Amino acid sequence: MRGKLLVIGFGPGSFEHMTNRAMEAIKESDYIIGYKTYVDLIKDYLTNQKIISTGMSEEVSRAQAAVRYAEEGKTVAVISSGDAGVYGMAGLVYEVLIEKGWKEATGVSVEVIPGISAINSCASLLGAPVMHDACTISLSDHLTPWNLIEKRIEAAAQADFVVTFYNPKSGRRTRQIQEAQRILLKYRSPSTPVGLVKSAYRDRQHVEITDLEHMLDFDIGMLTTVVIGNSSTFLYDNKIITPRGYQRKYTLNTTEQRLRPHERLRHENEPWALHQGKNDSVTNVAVKEKRRLATAATGSSLELAIEALTKVEKKQTYDTTPAAVHHPVESIFEFAVSPGIANKKFTPTQLITLAEVVGKKGSMEYTPHHQIYVKVPTAEPEDVTKKLTDVGFILEPIGDVFQIKACDFCEGEKKDSIPHAEKIHQKLSGLDLPKELKLGFNGCGMACFGAVNEDIGIVFRKGKFDLFLGAKTVGRTAHAGQPVAEGIEPDDIVELIENIVLEYKEKGHPNERFFKYFKRVGKIQNFQYKDMTPKIEIEPAPCGD
Ligand code: SAH
Repeated sequence: MRGKLLVIGFGPGSFEHMTNRAMEAIKESDYIIGYKTYVDLIKDYLTNQKIISTGMSEEVSRAQAAVRYAEEGKTVAVISSGDAGVYGMAGLVYEVLIEKGWKEATGVSVEVIPGISAINSCASLLGAPVMHDACTISLSDHLTPWNLIEKRIEAAAQADFVVTFYNPKSGRRTRQIQEAQRILLKYRSPSTPVGLVKSAYRDRQHVEITDLEHMLDFDIGMLTTVVIGNSSTFLYDNKIITPRGYQRKYTLNTTEQRLRPHERLRHENEPWALHQGKNDSVTNVAVKEKRRLATAATGSSLELAIEALTKVEKKQTYDTTPAAVHHPVESIFEFAVSPGIANKKFTPTQLITLAEVVGKKGSMEYTPHHQIYVKVPTAEPEDVTKKLTDVGFILEPIGDVFQIKACDFCEGEKKDSIPHAEKIHQKLSGLDLPKELKLGFNGCGMACFGAVNEDIGIVFRKGKFDLFLGAKTVGRTAHAGQPVAEGIEPDDIVELIENIVLEYKEKGHPNERFFKYFKRVGKIQNFQYKDMTPKIEIEPAPCGD
């Protein structure tokens, strides 16, 4: 009978997190070989297997003993916590076998049984910190030179990997984790979320959520796994979350937002992607250069290869200044620009500046709201804002916010109302609301600009203001706003509008348009709702309009 080696990863330590195959394999075995602590962890599931438990540093003799028993025809379980192939016994068992000239076809049979490694078990207790490209680094320098470990930390930090440190600290090894923190801080913000998980899924489980700056203030030991977030990782309700991608956008009223899932795959939202057919990539250059060198008959090919690779690698050198790493990729900055509230005239300088700012990668879209909707990939939204405002543009956020749309106040005494429109703009533009809300502002009683067709309409007439509320701006049953007041004193108009908008902000349901809100509550600031829906038979639209 051929003997059998079962190299088992039993997961973090609790029965429920062990795989079925791991349990069966343990039952099948004649011998269980493992580190004492691990054997103790699975003791309750053992029947009559012989146990060979050894100390921590006796891994080689453990592997040798296992191979020996298997060669005698026994079934031997070699156990590791987590996964046996991650800083576990699997590699060592193979090394011992190889030394003995083992071949799969003729030698003892070997089965490596996967288990949940600490990176996964610990991540699950922290939220979703791994999620994206991640690496594991063991800080144990017993079998690996410290300068190599340092290089790996440096590389991982630079390349913005989520990093998990295994074996972070022991009684004798206390400096390693300090050095690791120092290296990471060169590239990542001190506020980067850090999770410390001790004895995941074991009796003494302890979870600590902190940040890169403060991580050493907490207890870290042999049984701790340290999880460091990447530059996008954030905290939410004491959970560490790493988003699936880097796609974000800047808007004017919030510094940074993640793109909604449906927006993510749009071509324009991936300015950093290597799009088909574009750019002769660095890899292509490398391949071409290698081919050229392969056919070159003169000179030392090794020298040429080294020279070529150096050239290529130089191209690949990234800016590693901390600031660059904090924003490793550009985000989409989106906003609307217009030459003014009343002013509808662009200057050539404005248009040239806009074209420069938008460049080849950005986009400009003309909207029905007297604005150009701009999207630019950038890592510096403040620069973009400055360049545009310097030439007199007004920048406004887009989305579910307050916007004012004013007419051009064609000359004459109508100009009296401009300051009021500007005041409303200053006070409310960009305010986050349950749904987009546009206030139309007409400078004279002709109301040719159609202010009454906006969510809120204001018409200046004979030195005073008329107010219209709750136009239905979309759909086939669209209608103008309801005239709710006439002759409002100029001194009162700004405050009144502010109260209306703030009431809607506070009490409107998410996504509820202003007219729907008005209809639902029946009254805004003492203005009674009246149904303005046209009394005509109209077949319902599929969306229920
Ligand atoms: N093979 C194991 C790793 C062994 S190295 C695996 O795949 O998980 C030992 C290190 O693993 C410990 O220093 C600790 O960093 C980590 N580790 C293993 N089990 C753990 C647990 N239950 N909770 C937290 N960390 C754990």
